[in-house]
Amino acid sequence: MKKLITGIHHVTAVSGDAQENIDFYTGLLGMRLVKKTVNFDDPKAYHFYFGDATGTAGTIMTTFPYGKDLQKGRHGKGKISTTAFSLPFSSVEYWEERLTAFHITFKPVQERFPGEAFIYLEDDDGLGIELVFTEKEERAGYSFSGHIPPEHSIRGIHHVELWLESPEKTGALLTKILNHELIHESYHRQRYAATDAPGHYIDILRAPDAMKGLPGRGMVHHVAFATPDGETQQQIMEKIHEYGLNTTGIKDRNYFTSIYFNEPGGIIFEIATEGPGFTADEDLSTLGMELKLPAQYEGRRAELSKILPTFNYPTEKFKK
Ligand code: ZN
Repeated sequence: MKKLITGIHHVTAVSGDAQENIDFYTGLLGMRLVKKTVNFDDPKAYHFYFGDATGTAGTIMTTFPYGKDLQKGRHGKGKISTTAFSLPFSSVEYWEERLTAFHITFKPVQERFPGEAFIYLEDDDGLGIELVFTEKEERAGYSFSGHIPPEHSIRGIHHVELWLESPEKTGALLTKILNHELIHESYHRQRYAATDAPGHYIDILRAPDAMKGLPGRGMVHHVAFATPDGETQQQIMEKIHEYGLNTTGIKDRNYFTSIYFNEPGGIIFEIATEGPGFTADEDLSTLGMELKLPAQYEGRRAELSKILPTFNYPTEKFKK
């Protein structure tokens, strides 16, 4: 039987300025813009998808850049406060030097587990980011627009960190329904894994004393788990319903289909199919270059193109 959940599919955040967003994720972090579309639920904002060279599930960070006027959110309990990207252990020095060279504020390298170190930084909107350097990273490197050599490139998502009042109910959902195993447990941190490899981890921080997190600019909106196809998506949806949680119906996101639900700690979880992927409506060589609209908004292309801000891509910022 197929595994119903194979790991993280993508992480979606609410952002501010479109150009800053492009500069940070494609320039500083060296990811590829694999899709330029609009928020399917609110087409007056872009939806950017950043990933590896082909936009593989598990490498995808997506943002809704709503502009700088949007109220900032607050890290705290009931939210995903950190999104971690995965790199080989041998890239620590490269990234310390790179961030220093571009005057990016970051916390010094710390070790979390043997063979796993991390640097904490934030994007222009205050989104919590970790670069995790791990001996377990085996995904191939890539270089897009020449910002970062392939051996030091971000390989994809490593994990997301959920801050919760108490982790028990969310942990039970992960292990009983979403195919995860608890692979590390201390009082403060639990790590759940769909498979023991980067891109397949959910970390829960027990944070009873933290302030309540608030949505807004610089906050993760949801995390999406990957499921192989429409059939497994249907099966996992039925399991979630039997567990007593409600979900949305299946939504067509053009590059995958999705369902959404609130986990017991209040964080939005999505289940997204691995396919059809980002080459569904443009060639691999030109991914992200044109504004792609779903059929329901194609008739509003001229109007939306006037509202959406212009920006430069590929960017020259953060190029050595
Ligand atoms: Zn999503």
